[in-house]
Amino acid sequence: MSLLEIKGLKTCFDTDRGVVRAVDGVSFSIKPGRTLGVVGESGCGKSVTALSILRLLPKPVGRIAAGSIRLRDRDLLALSEREMRSVRGNDISMIFQEPMTSLNPVFTVGDQIAEPLMLHQQMNRRRAMDRAVEMLQVVGIPNAERRVAEYPHQLSGGQRQRAMIAMALACRPALLIADEPTTALDVTVQAQILDLMNDLKDRFGSSVMLITHALGVIAETAQRVVVMYAGRVVEEADVEPLFAEPLHPYTQGLLRSIPRLDCDRERLDVIPGVVPNPLEFPPGCRFHNRCDKAFDRCRREEPPLYLLGGRSVRCWLYEDDGRKEGSRDD
Ligand code: SF4
Ligand code: MG
Repeated sequence: MSLLEIKGLKTCFDTDRGVVRAVDGVSFSIKPGRTLGVVGESGCGKSVTALSILRLLPKPVGRIAAGSIRLRDRDLLALSEREMRSVRGNDISMIFQEPMTSLNPVFTVGDQIAEPLMLHQQMNRRRAMDRAVEMLQVVGIPNAERRVAEYPHQLSGGQRQRAMIAMALACRPALLIADEPTTALDVTVQAQILDLMNDLKDRFGSSVMLITHALGVIAETAQRVVVMYAGRVVEEADVEPLFAEPLHPYTQGLLRSIPRLDCDRERLDVIPGVVPNPLEFPPGCRFHNRCDKAFDRCRREEPPLYLLGGRSVRCWLYEDDGRKEGSRDD
């Protein structure tokens, strides 16, 4: 059974210039204790998907126009705001690229880890502070007993990210959503933080949804990958087959742009062109004006998602090999 199941999610922003269809019919699920990587360039709808799950869309412009989001047996879209606050305190936590967006500069790190525990798990202050110290130890911050009383600006960038992870995991969430958690960090610290997230996932049995624009980041951390492009899922597969044989031309392009140690190319192959404006998606395949394999039909008709064994791909090239998926996400 899935921990989280999203079906046909559509999220829009009503702007002065029109309706921005940021997430446009997205379906995927996450199994308990597993990590799902969600990959794509910025502007493909990854973060908006995460904010939709938590129902933290900016009001009044953002709205979920269609679809369902289930956490175990609960329909998150049917919950009251009060029930949803409890879900955010107990069941799903989120960490962001920039820790200072979730750490409050005027409270100590310990207070910030302890507060949700007192609020949502009815711990008294003393127990909550003990848990805060324990969590700082777990995430590898030395001298946790002392540092728990420090303010966020007293920590280094990497330590702040660790503190944010401590905060997110303190209430033992079933699902941790991490949106570009290592993008702002240097490469060595990045690897440490990803290792840490892996360890903690196993230790606490949480599932992780890891959002990143860098396909390389998920190779070591995720078991399953969803590739998003222009508000849609264009490919989904287990990690090994995705890296061994990416099917969608967009995924192939993302893979070519990963830095490799074994070759000394000065420049990486970047995918030419830009993600289309979600105010007006092009007709046909949304990737057609950047795709080196595009043919006539691609400019006229949008391909469905084709199922091939345990994976799926949204591209006309697989029409003959794949089975067309039902219209669940269209
Ligand atoms: Fe390229 Fe056509 Fe496939 Fe789109 S449908 S990815 S344009 S080959
Ligand atoms: Mg983003």
